[in-house]
Amino acid sequence: MATQFEPVIGLEIHVQLASKTKMFCTCPNGMDESSGPNTEICPRCSGQPGTLPVMNEGAVRLGVRAGLALGCKTNEVSSFERKHYFYPDLPKGYQITQNAHPVNGRGEIEITFGPKTNLQKKKIGIHHAHLEEDAAKSSHEAQYSLVDFNRAGCPLLEIVSMPDMRSADEAYAYLTEIKRLMKWVDASNCDMEKGELRVDVNVSLRPVGQEKFGTRTEIKNLNSFKAVRDAINYEIARQTEVLNKGEKVVQQTLLWDKEQNITKPMRSKEDALDYRYFPEPDLPPLILRKDRLEKIKADMPELPAAKEAKFVGLGLSAYDAGVLTITRAVAEYFEAVLKAGAPAKAAANWITTDLLGALHAENKEIEDSPIAAENLAELIGLVESGKISRTQAKTVFEKMYQTGEKAAALVEKLGLSQVSDEGQLFAWAQEAINEAPKAVADFKKGNRAAVGALVGAVMRKSKGKANPKRMNEILVELLSK
Ligand code: ADP
Ligand code: MG
Ligand code: ZN
Repeated sequence: MATQFEPVIGLEIHVQLASKTKMFCTCPNGMDESSGPNTEICPRCSGQPGTLPVMNEGAVRLGVRAGLALGCKTNEVSSFERKHYFYPDLPKGYQITQNAHPVNGRGEIEITFGPKTNLQKKKIGIHHAHLEEDAAKSSHEAQYSLVDFNRAGCPLLEIVSMPDMRSADEAYAYLTEIKRLMKWVDASNCDMEKGELRVDVNVSLRPVGQEKFGTRTEIKNLNSFKAVRDAINYEIARQTEVLNKGEKVVQQTLLWDKEQNITKPMRSKEDALDYRYFPEPDLPPLILRKDRLEKIKADMPELPAAKEAKFVGLGLSAYDAGVLTITRAVAEYFEAVLKAGAPAKAAANWITTDLLGALHAENKEIEDSPIAAENLAELIGLVESGKISRTQAKTVFEKMYQTGEKAAALVEKLGLSQVSDEGQLFAWAQEAINEAPKAVADFKKGNRAAVGALVGAVMRKSKGKANPKRMNEILVELLSK
């Protein structure tokens, strides 16, 4: 019988920090699409001799915020090293990075995965997260290669996980959580299409029950969630086959070919690069004094896990709490609706299904919502107080979404508000009874369903403004006299 293997997965994620300028110079960080290649560069980030790096305080602050979101211990003293390799995208011939002493030490995050009805949670360790500068971007044509240095020197945070994941689903959930956290604390925009989040995946197998890890391969530079999932699943299958044939997994660096859906060797351990790390002589150690760190901590928003717990405490399901904390803006919108007086459950329903659904259909974010939180709360209030029915509220919602008008005003305008004046309701009921002797006779014969026809008649008379449930009661009361 073939041996059962357990996958072991660890991720190294590069996120581009959302600072205004690059890591060690004052060139703009983040490509302005309108400006062409090699326009956002200076002697420093294009590696001219004699230039010196200057640390970007803003990037450091974002790196620390990111670390705090990952539950990392912030190291008071960290330092930079030179990592050497030769490639056209690296003008200095080395990359400035943190190696032995990263700014963010050990941390831990919680991931959620599995089906909606059976969500599972698991803690994943963060080994560390360090600051570094990005390389330039090269593009290879048939006859030549081009290099764009706009990206050279952009600030990155590399987040290195512990080998704690056991399936592609867990890795996917981990990636989702990293992206949520980085965006939550404004550390990175994580726009994968712009290359602001890039993933290296390490995969190995071990026989189930064995403690020692097996030989791993590393798949470099994945730039979509789908590629991460596909590459992991492919690699698990490939390694299983190798091991089942009695062969050994070769430790090597691979590339994902998303056209053919296979991994391809890039280099093996034998030709692994020797980076000849040594301390960066042109940068002093990065020292985060207590007051500075306290200031950064004080500026941190409440993190998604805390918010989720709070929302569950309000009676929401774990799933809904997850949807309502998908971004910080969504969570804050929900809280604003509550603050304006809406009950949690109703507010959650309207946001998770109606509002997010409508926004999603247009590829919009909650920041673009045409319905302000207070207005949604007002709409919910009208339903809660029985002024309008849920069905009517849906109509009002659609109009609000189209026009941005307020709920109460729209209810007036559309003539929707339900009549709750008992005198008027009884009058309509009596009228309907007088006009439909057959239905009355049927009812008296014991056919209680006949009351439905009368309710219908009242709804027509009242143009839908009578509350059907209350009308039913009134009709039964009058007919039973
Ligand atoms: P390197 O120095 O070669 O980058 P690290 O020890 O820093 O290697 O690990 C890099 C990543 O690989 C980490 O995310 C780690 O969790 C993961 N990793 C290490 N060993 C294994 C293994 N045997 N199987 C799967 N992932 C692993
Ligand atoms: Mg590595
Ligand atoms: Zn520059």
